[in-house]
Amino acid sequence: MIPFLDIKTINSQYRKELIEACTRVIDSGWYIQGKECGLFEKEFAKYCGTKYAIGVANGLDALTLILRAYMEMGIMRKGDEIIVPSNTYIASILSISENGLIPVLVEPNIETYNINPKLIEEKITNKTKAIMPVHLYGQSCEMDKINLVATKYNLKVIEDSAQSHGAYFKDKRCGNLGDASGFSFYPGKNLGALGDGGAITTNDKELAEVVIALKNYGSHKKYENLYKGTNSRLDEIQAAILRVKLSHLDNEINKRHEVAKYYLDNITNKKIKLPCLYEINNHVWHVFAIKTKQRDKLQKYLSNNNVQTLIHYPIPPHKQKAYSEWSQLNFPISEKIHSEILSLPISAVQTIQNSKSVVKTINEFN
Ligand SMILES: *Cc1c(COP(=O)(O)O)cnc(C)c1O
Repeated sequence: MIPFLDIKTINSQYRKELIEACTRVIDSGWYIQGKECGLFEKEFAKYCGTKYAIGVANGLDALTLILRAYMEMGIMRKGDEIIVPSNTYIASILSISENGLIPVLVEPNIETYNINPKLIEEKITNKTKAIMPVHLYGQSCEMDKINLVATKYNLKVIEDSAQSHGAYFKDKRCGNLGDASGFSFYPGKNLGALGDGGAITTNDKELAEVVIALKNYGSHKKYENLYKGTNSRLDEIQAAILRVKLSHLDNEINKRHEVAKYYLDNITNKKIKLPCLYEINNHVWHVFAIKTKQRDKLQKYLSNNNVQTLIHYPIPPHKQKAYSEWSQLNFPISEKIHSEILSLPISAVQTIQNSKSVVKTINEFN
């Protein structure tokens, strides 16, 4: 079976470096809030081009804590509205409702799968406080247009960069395209830890200070608590591992580009709609998503022919039981995407033979 993502092989390339990193932490006697997390934060901020990066426990916490910090800063209040794409992964939406804020869904562009900037303005009310663009599948959103709307209505822009580590929009990287950004280092992400991890990036000093306190029980100073905070920390082992993985990230992105280019150049089956790519550096190919009206049939056929695929995602958020209050809403573009999308195998360790085999199998589908 050609695996969708061979995480074991990806990590075993760095086995020696990863063991060295873990050994360093074990021998240091310091396992939380130490040197490795501090160094990773510096290195990741530099990579993204931001002043601050703050390690947290996971990607959902990163987004939740940004919104929570804005509430502590008096910029948002319970019941305020946050604009978010209707086809995102559920975590983006959960971070909003977790804070007692209201997610307002906006349809994506059918070509890019990213939030359609033209549809944002009509959803803005006097309760709207922020836009949360999601760089879905690893492709950056049209941030120039989104930031224009945000400036016009004085809204914060909170990027969900959980799938887009390293992707550019013009000359800036994801994480540095709005007011703040949340990243995930879940093992399957392009920058993946060997467990859970996340980070917030921002250039806003006040926001950074509030988040740093919130993730550590609301404490800015030992045994003093400014806020009713939480415990959401990136531990030393994961930080040390992420430092190794970060040093190889650009190389891995290049390898993903090679697989994507091979697919784009060679998949010729007329039944398949290939993903669109505006600028080469805008996409880091976390997911290579094709579309076809015969999605379920194609997935079964590929599985029978030893190609593993996944669906990102089978059920749109407004059709989830957790959000039954939205069950009467219609998002036809999202629904179409959810019914036609299929993610092909892609990774930095995928062999050319495997890419060839995927293409040949798809081209023979009818
Ligand atoms: C993975 C992901 C998250 C959540 O990250 P976790 O580390 O799993 O909490 C949030 N948003 C998007 C778009 C994701 O893909």
